[in-house]
Amino acid sequence: MSDFNEARQRMVERQIVGRGIRDPRVLAAMRSVPREAFVPDYLRDLAYEDRPLPIGNEQTISQPAIVATMLEAADLSPTDVVLDVGTGSGYAAAVAATLAAHVYSIERHAELVAVARDMLARLNISNVTVYLGDGTAGLAEHAPYDAIIAAAGGPHIPDVWRRQLAIGGRIVMPVGRELHYQKLIKLVRHGEDDYRSCSLGEVSFVPLVGADAWPAPDEHRRGADKSGGGGDSGVGGGSGEAGGRGVGGAERGRSCPRSAGEVAGLHGLLAVA
Ligand code: SAH
Repeated sequence: MSDFNEARQRMVERQIVGRGIRDPRVLAAMRSVPREAFVPDYLRDLAYEDRPLPIGNEQTISQPAIVATMLEAADLSPTDVVLDVGTGSGYAAAVAATLAAHVYSIERHAELVAVARDMLARLNISNVTVYLGDGTAGLAEHAPYDAIIAAAGGPHIPDVWRRQLAIGGRIVMPVGRELHYQKLIKLVRHGEDDYRSCSLGEVSFVPLVGADAWPAPDEHRRGADKSGGGGDSGVGGGSGEAGGRGVGGAERGRSCPRSAGEVAGLHGLLAVA
């Protein structure tokens, strides 16, 4: 067995099984996908550390335990069609692809799209399709989705995602009013207009940037300048309150039953950004 394979098996035992994640399909998926292939060359030796790693464009590949927690919560089955918002390196999409029929993944940075597509092709992963674009608009052409997973945090779950979710489908997304602090929310569509959500724990993801989330950093700075630049970490220019919806109502974060977050020790410990 190669060093990376051994490191991966150790990572799953310590970081994932060790945190209480039990879903055997998720564990098998995490044991099989080579995370080292999705991190930049100079960081390969750190591929199985218990942390997110930079992948360029100020973005990160998520911490392994976070990927496992989100996929366990998404409850994927082999016939599921998944929308993955925030392809980044393509790692989470690759893991999801071993659990589902097809993963449509969308990323706003063209450079990351190119690198992710290239690596997925090299690994012969043919059931992931990567799109360049703003995932806050969803992806109408392949809806409805059995699951929508987001690796970036926004002020609320975009309405269009709810509409693109199949009945019985699950959304797993970091939601919070601050750019780098969220609750990991699981929302299930029980019926046409019946959505119920709960919180898996506190997390820190990179911001979801798009028409129905946070403004891009340059717009953010412009907004802050316009408003006199308070220098706080919120978004500037009055766009930050997201129409007052924020994590209101059910999204505020009743704990999920047998919260995976609690089990995984998400509270303040796991960080993606
Ligand atoms: N799942 C990724 C994690 C990437 S971090 C992995 O396993 O590597 C989150 C990603 O979301 C970043 O690459 C960021 O550019 C992207 N992102 C942020 N807002 C987005 C949006 N509105 N649409 C698509 N991608 C977005």
